[in-house]
Formats: sequence, structure tokens, C-alpha cells
Amino acid sequence: MMGLNRQAIALISDHADPAAAIGLEEAGGQNVYVRHIGENLANLGWQVDMFTRKVNPDDPDIVQHSPHCRTIRLKAGAEKYIPRDELFAHMPEFVDSFQQFQTKHGLNYPLIHTNYWLSAFVGLELQKISAIQLIHTYHSLGVVKYQSTANIPLSADLRLRIEHEILEKANYVCATSPQEEETLRSLVSSYGKISMIPCGTDTSNFRLMSKTDARLQLKLGQNEKIILYVGRFDRRKGIETLVRACALLKEQGINNFKLVIVGGSSPQMPDAVERERIEGIVSEVGLNPQIIFAGRIGHDILPLYYTAADVCVIPSHYEPFGLVAIEAMACGTPVVASDVGGLKFTIIPEETGLLVPPQDIEAFANGIHRILFDELWARRMRKQAAANVIQRFTWAGVAIQLSELYRMTLAQSIMHKQPRSSRISDLKLKATSPSSILKNSTLSATQV
Ligand code: UDP
Repeated sequence: MMGLNRQAIALISDHADPAAAIGLEEAGGQNVYVRHIGENLANLGWQVDMFTRKVNPDDPDIVQHSPHCRTIRLKAGAEKYIPRDELFAHMPEFVDSFQQFQTKHGLNYPLIHTNYWLSAFVGLELQKISAIQLIHTYHSLGVVKYQSTANIPLSADLRLRIEHEILEKANYVCATSPQEEETLRSLVSSYGKISMIPCGTDTSNFRLMSKTDARLQLKLGQNEKIILYVGRFDRRKGIETLVRACALLKEQGINNFKLVIVGGSSPQMPDAVERERIEGIVSEVGLNPQIIFAGRIGHDILPLYYTAADVCVIPSHYEPFGLVAIEAMACGTPVVASDVGGLKFTIIPEETGLLVPPQDIEAFANGIHRILFDELWARRMRKQAAANVIQRFTWAGVAIQLSELYRMTLAQSIMHKQPRSSRISDLKLKATSPSSILKNSTLSATQV
């Protein structure tokens, strides 16, 4: 169902399906980001169509999330899981399927927001053949990833080239933290426009609750310390560092704790390999009595885990943003995180958590120890952490900033199409709804 006065826009998320279950191989922050900005942009008056690749023939082609926000699954390669490193070959088909969808439904999206480099390719192709405005969010940067990985895929050169091209050719790219903006400028290109708009969290779901109740519901002991990890099984997430840090605590005579690891893995997928590797390390360091592998947990139950925990640990080698940090803090749980990327932006050291050097087992053990055993300080951080997230990182706030960026971009495109004398210089400020900007524009999307 499309609203009569709504401007339709497209979000493209090649591999990260906004309607998928989160927490398994490949499904993480990007899925959450696209889904939440989509729903919140719809609340602000846009018609939001989110396009992704269909990976399962049993999945419906269209999932309606709310009256004006839907996921549309396009044919691009076989309808089965294809690893990201092999997906590029199917992106031209994605472009064709997208064009066919537009033609079939009489649509002509004037603005497309792409996510991840594979979708950037789709956006750049569409930019060549139609008058679209292009916004891009990276989610992960090849130039950073390849610095810390031994297995450089065949697609690496292509990825670097596309990540460079999108920065220079998109109307704007969104950096989700000042750190990401700096990385883009220093390692990708000094050309192109960057708008810093963070990620967010749903503060009506991730919020302060009773720790006693949360532990009761999860059947966790009231008197033991709980250390939590939430995220995918991926070597770059640094779970090994956390396990070894906990082993160090145990060596220091601290036994009364549980390490709860939340996140799923699928048989025969690369995340199962990492999970097995982590299980091996857990046995090797004698942490079996302390470990709980909780599996994949949905956002409905996840707030209980954050609330039940005394500390949430984010040992990633790198994070452009790191949603788990703000989810934990929104629930009042202090974090110990690697001093990298967006985590430096979201966490206020000593006030909402601690930042320590990545992969530094001893520093993680010390940080966890400090939070576990200074209860007064931890209690103060609980309030500060939740307040910090409410103030800076709600999806509603993020969507307002994105909506403004879209309006400005569309307004600029209209101005560039008009003779200089008739430019409306403050159109972006006066527009009250997305549709009003395009009322007299040749770019107006066909409404159905
Ligand atoms: N997540 C989840 N269930 C799980 C594991 C993870 O819902 O079992 C979610 C988590 O709550 C967060 C996202 O997956 O919203 C991970 O995002 P983040 O930015 O931390 O990491 P990414 O996956 O993008 O590397």
C-alpha cells in the first residue's frame, strides 16, 4: 500500500535482509540499521521500499513492516545463501531486477540510499542510467578490513575501487562516527561529501529495567557476576580475547562469574567454524564451568540479557559504529570495549564504560575487573550510560537527520535543474514533508 502524498524512496541492502532474523552469519548491524531507519523514515512521511537479494525460495517477495515501509526481495543469482565474497557477480542482475520492479509498478525512485559496497555498485550503475540522487552508508570498509586480515579475497581490488568511487560520486555518504569520517578522508578520498549521522537504538525496547527480574526470567543466579558478549561469531569480533581475559580473571582466583555469549551460528557456514574455534579455546583455558552459549537471541528478549549483565564486553578488532555498545548502555550496562572506530565515539571512558587496546587480554581483564568490583561506580555509570544513549542515539533522531539530508539532496537536485534566477535557496528549510519538495519537480515518483 502506498500513500497518496508520500514520496517513495529506495533503500538498497544487497545481502543484509531487513526482514531477516538477526544474529546469524551475515545478519547483524546492517540488517538492524536498514530496518530501523526504514521504519522511522516511514513515520516521518516517506514511502520506504527496502530492496535486498532473495536467498530462499520459501521467503515471500514482499514483507510489509508497516503501512509505508516494506522489504522487497529481488532475484539476483540462485535463491540460496551465497557468501559475500562471491556476490558481486550477481549485482548486475540485481540492477536489472530493480529496474524491472520499477517498471512493473510504475515507480521511479528519485533517491536511493545504498548500504555496503555491493549495493554501492548497484547505486552507481543506476546513477549512470537514471536521474537518481545517491546516498551511501559503508557499514564496513575494505581498506580497514584488509589491514587486519590474512585472507584477502579476489574481489578486494574491486571493492576498494567501488568504495572510492561511491565517495566521490554519491551526493553524500553517511559516516556513522567521526572516526569513520576521518578514515574515509585519510584512506579513501579527500573528494566527495560526507555527512556524519550516527546509528541508533530503539530506546523503548533497550531501556533501564530491574536486574533482579531479568536474572529471574533468564534463570541466572542473583549472586554471581555476569559478563556478556553479544554479536556474530566472526574472528574480527575478538571473542577469543574476551575468553582469554576471563581465563585470566579465573587465574587470579575469581570464580564466581558466568561468561554469557549471545549470537547464533549455522551449520556449514563460516560462523560455525569460529564458534567451534571459540569452544576449543574455552576448553583449553578451563572455562567450561563459567561459559553459557545462549545462541541467537531476538531483540524482544535481548534487553533482558543486557540488563542481567554486570558488564558487556565488545572486544572487536575494529567497529565502524558497533550497535551492541549502545544497546547495552541503553539498558544501563557499562561496557568494556576496544578503543577503535565508532566505539571511541559512543562510549565515554569512565562515565559509561571503558576503552582498552584491541586484543590486549590483560587490559580487558583489568577493565572487566574494575567494573565488576567497584559497585558504586558501576551504579553511577548505569544511569549515565542510559542517559547518554537517549540523548545521542535514538533511531527516531537518526531518521530525522537522514530525512533532512534526503530533503536537502532532493532540493539541490531540483535547484540544479532550474535556471539560476528561479532557484529557491531555502527550499530545504521550508519543506514540511518529503512530498512537498517534489511537488513541482520533474523527479516526482509515480505514486501507486
Ligand atoms: N544481534 C541480535 N541477536 C544476536 C546477536 C546479535 O539481535 O543473537 C544484533 C545485536 O543486537 C545488534 C546487531 O546484531 O543489533 C549487531 O550489530 P553490531 O553493529 O554490533 O555488529 P555487526 O553485526 O554489524 O558487525
